[in-house]
Amino acid sequence: MKLIVANWKMHKTRAEARAFADELGHAIGDGIPVVELVVAPAYPLLDAARDGRGRWALGCQNVASETEGAFTGEVSAGMAADAGCTYAIVGHSERRRLFGEDGPVLTKKVARCRDAGLVPIFCIGETEKERDAGLTAATFVRQLDALEPDPHDRPLVVAYEPVWAIGSGRTATPEDCGSALVHIAELLSARRNLRLLYGGSVTPDNCRPLLGAPRTDGFLIGGASLSAESFAAIARA
Ligand code: PEP
Repeated sequence: MKLIVANWKMHKTRAEARAFADELGHAIGDGIPVVELVVAPAYPLLDAARDGRGRWALGCQNVASETEGAFTGEVSAGMAADAGCTYAIVGHSERRRLFGEDGPVLTKKVARCRDAGLVPIFCIGETEKERDAGLTAATFVRQLDALEPDPHDRPLVVAYEPVWAIGSGRTATPEDCGSALVHIAELLSARRNLRLLYGGSVTPDNCRPLLGAPRTDGFLIGGASLSAESFAAIARA
């Protein structure tokens, strides 16, 4: 089953989220049996983005590293689960770059997801500078180091999102995507319950060859997920 995740980032009002849900529902009818869909809106939009028929699940874009307490402005993994989320994006490159998240804090966030029963979608990926310096593989090792061994082998999603491809219109080639995902799968070979996504300027026009790349279980989609029509087109592809 392919997994296609919409990351809306900080976009949409509740009315727009409801319109998206109506349109996506129309576009996929009874659902797409071979594809699992997830919509990850901002927290205030969770209810508006929910599908009463369960054709897509809800995710959130971040969780707090703590469980409860005096952490003004934070939302816990337990709260997100209580609000209906099944998945949580953790370590998106925008959170790493703009909010200084890395290593130990991400380890805690994944642990909080586990406590709350959320499936983490853990994002990794090299910057252009790291890529040009031949540091892509070393970046994967460093970033994956934040994932602690999981004796219970619970479901884990890792999204490979090269930073230079996010929101830039520059997509990784299927060859680059495949070799990165194969390498990530090798680094995580102890995990049986692992799905690997690609993210970075995926559109209805470029998604097919990327889906054919080795080890690609689906996509994490930013810009093209804001329109129900293009999100549905990618899911159908
Ligand atoms: C993202 O932000 O996770 C992403 C992949 O964005 P875009 O599809 O717009 O590159």
